[in-house]
Amino acid sequence: MQITPEQLAFDREHIWHPYSSMINPPPMTPVVSASGTRLKLNDGRELIDGMSSWWSTIHGYSHPALNEAAKSQIDQMSHVMFGGITHEPAIELARKLVRMTPEGLDKVFIADSGSVAVEVAIKMALQYWQSLERGEKHKLLTLRGGYHGDTFGAMSVCDPVTGMHEIFTGVLPKHHFVPRPASKFGEPLQSEDSEALEAVLRAHANEIAALILEPIVQGAGGMYFYSADYLKRARELCDQYEVLLIADEIATGFGRTGKLFACDHAGISPDILCVGKALTGGYMTLAATLTTDTIGQTISAGGAGCFMHGPTFMGNPLACAVANASLGLIETGQWQTQVARISEELKTGLTPAAELESVADVRVIGAIGVVERKEPVTLSEVQPMFIEHGIWVRPFGRNVYLMPPYISSSEDIAALTSGIVDVLRELERA
Ligand SMILES: *Cc1c(COP(=O)(O)O)cnc(C)c1O
Repeated sequence: MQITPEQLAFDREHIWHPYSSMINPPPMTPVVSASGTRLKLNDGRELIDGMSSWWSTIHGYSHPALNEAAKSQIDQMSHVMFGGITHEPAIELARKLVRMTPEGLDKVFIADSGSVAVEVAIKMALQYWQSLERGEKHKLLTLRGGYHGDTFGAMSVCDPVTGMHEIFTGVLPKHHFVPRPASKFGEPLQSEDSEALEAVLRAHANEIAALILEPIVQGAGGMYFYSADYLKRARELCDQYEVLLIADEIATGFGRTGKLFACDHAGISPDILCVGKALTGGYMTLAATLTTDTIGQTISAGGAGCFMHGPTFMGNPLACAVANASLGLIETGQWQTQVARISEELKTGLTPAAELESVADVRVIGAIGVVERKEPVTLSEVQPMFIEHGIWVRPFGRNVYLMPPYISSSEDIAALTSGIVDVLRELERA
């Protein structure tokens, strides 16, 4: 179906888009359908997708297995409340998640979005310490440069500069921050990084419930990749200082970094794990928070007698059924060769960008390729240029990056990387 000019005008007048203004609404690209790695526009043009719709559509759009899962589940039931009722899609999803995630995570909370999964993780950590009559452990510790979502609890552990602390000062709880680790991915741990983390724990562990971090890859906070040794050390320090470790794998989970979970790079298990984004292959909103048997038992033995959370659409059968199909595709293991190939192609294709005057760094991990510029890009300027090159790329801040679907062909990746290099070159000439 074509989108009419009247509909576009209505959109501008009435609809909030992510981080949008009602005074100066950003231009919108009307998409009428999507299939494989292609987004089809109103005017008939097709764009090669480099974003996986914010890192979620790992199997591509309109995948036959996911379409089938959604259709057959709709004929069974789209939704039923989860309070006092259970159903096969949720049971099978929990079974898969317990099987696939790092060892020891066997209690599953099915949440409705990434931010909610983070809220649930934070609440689990707080309830855990309350149950142990150590309610004074109610603060969080996190890394600068992180991103954990847009709700209040999640916001409070986002980067204090690029996040939303400034406009919500006084409303957001104050937590502890350590610098973003200087130890880069593939490099050994620098002692300053380890010491900075330990210093805060030594001084404040008595009031810290949990360390929350994005393992290995900090996503929306800056597309930064840090040392696996840092993550390993963080796990050790959390154990030593009696602080829970929450791994937010909403962006990194299900193969994106070249391992099934980013925690696998360090061979560690967190106490609490959040997954989301790619969970349903990008079909609909769904997330999960997993924890250990001990934490589950401890929370349940506390004063409240239960875990205090339960959204209306918890365990939505339709979303669970599609997630099961998506995880089924992951379990074939094909992602490993796909991600490894894409990784090499991203390296080859983006390397020429490193020569450019305006570029500060080029880095690749798994199926994530980042060109970091010295100056921020102007979205309204570059978005049309990428579209002109037939690719959908949506940079933020100084980062022009790719997180393509795993099914992307070599030709897709070549078009995405050469498109980025060309656009950056054109910007320098302008
Ligand atoms: C996207 C993201 C979130 C928030 O997920 P939503 O589904 O947008 O609420 C949280 N943590 C990380 C690491 C993310 O990338």
